[in-house]
Amino acid sequence: MSGDKARRRIDVAEAASLILARMPEWGTRQVPIDSAHGEVLRQTIRAERDQPPFDRVTMDGIAIRHAAVAAGVRRFRVIGTQGAGGERVGIASDDSCVAIMTGAALPPGVDTVIPVERISRDADVVTLEAGYQPAAGQFVHRRASDHPQGTALLAPGTLIGAPEMAILTIGGSASVEVSRRPSIAVISTGDELVDVGQPVGANQIRASNDRAISGALAARGFRDCRRVSLPDDRAVLERELRRLLDEHEVLILTGGVSMGEFDYVPQVLLELGMELVFHKVLQRPGLPLWFGVSPDGKPVFALPGNPVSSLVCLVRYALPGLLHAMRLEHGLLPVVGLAEAVRFEPDLGYFLPVTLKYSADGRCLARPKQTNTSGDFAALAGTSGFVELPRGASLFPAGYTARFFSW
Ligand code: AMP
Ligand code: MG
Repeated sequence: MSGDKARRRIDVAEAASLILARMPEWGTRQVPIDSAHGEVLRQTIRAERDQPPFDRVTMDGIAIRHAAVAAGVRRFRVIGTQGAGGERVGIASDDSCVAIMTGAALPPGVDTVIPVERISRDADVVTLEAGYQPAAGQFVHRRASDHPQGTALLAPGTLIGAPEMAILTIGGSASVEVSRRPSIAVISTGDELVDVGQPVGANQIRASNDRAISGALAARGFRDCRRVSLPDDRAVLERELRRLLDEHEVLILTGGVSMGEFDYVPQVLLELGMELVFHKVLQRPGLPLWFGVSPDGKPVFALPGNPVSSLVCLVRYALPGLLHAMRLEHGLLPVVGLAEAVRFEPDLGYFLPVTLKYSADGRCLARPKQTNTSGDFAALAGTSGFVELPRGASLFPAGYTARFFSW
């Protein structure tokens, strides 16, 4: 291990960029579009046809020739009815019209739509409302007026949300190329940890980090996650971590990265041949964060065991790293205003849990929720995430705009 790396404490921004620079690439896979929501698109989606693909009627009513109204015609004979998706009904003369519905393709020979609210109809004869003057070409959404055929509508690196699901269908293909997701091992370390459902001794605690972490991962679509619990035992850690590294593409550990006598994780990881990228970040909570890369390029995040620290470090570092590796181009970059002033004296980046609320004038405000310690994860109940307050200032006034990270 390079002694310099082990000793040098870096700040939040440097830690985040060192992680991004060391993330691998997991390739792509083809999925049915029904499975594409929440995935990162890896191909360009082009319009299969002009958008709209035909002159599309946008009102229920009648379709006429505008020149007829201009020449004084006020009554029209209905020669057919056309609904959306129906065959086009042509007109023969200036005083005939087609009863037409929203979504229908404008038939040949007509150019203007008069809404049903502006006409009265008696059997096959339609009369325009007195004095009503339609504009030429009204209520027709012209073919290709939005996007001609072949236009690039979605770029690689786009996160596929609800609008993108709709746009994918304009591409016309039932499957789509998206980023492949890694297989992740979420590993709790600690002799004191007991899972729910098991008897818990007086000196033991419930393991909670792995549940929080796998929940946060699942919420971002990482479902290939295995939860593992390991003791503070060097030999077991070495054996099991070696096996997990063979079987998974990302390791996320919690606990055992501080200065305690049983905090073996950094040592064991180095013995397994990891390259240490950094250990310790000037931040609260989560100072002992460790990040390294295996000889075959697999990222290993070793998060501090305190539950608030581990979740903050996951959300601030591991999740952006994973999404960067999946080539997400435009992550969410929300900023919020502080609802009240915050004082924080230490020369550390500060991650402060907050609850988001709308003010009376519609601004999104972040109300701080202090935890007693970084072990007090029960205080996170009802919080939305945390804000990042940078090093170098000790007073952040009400209204201060800060980066926000959602749990
Ligand atoms: P460590 O980083 O191993 O020194 O752990 C710091 C604190 O976090 C200790 O009080 C641990 O008991 C607690 N802790 C560690 N891992 C977990 C876990 N998986 N779930 C809940 N608490 C944990
Ligand atoms: Mg421990």
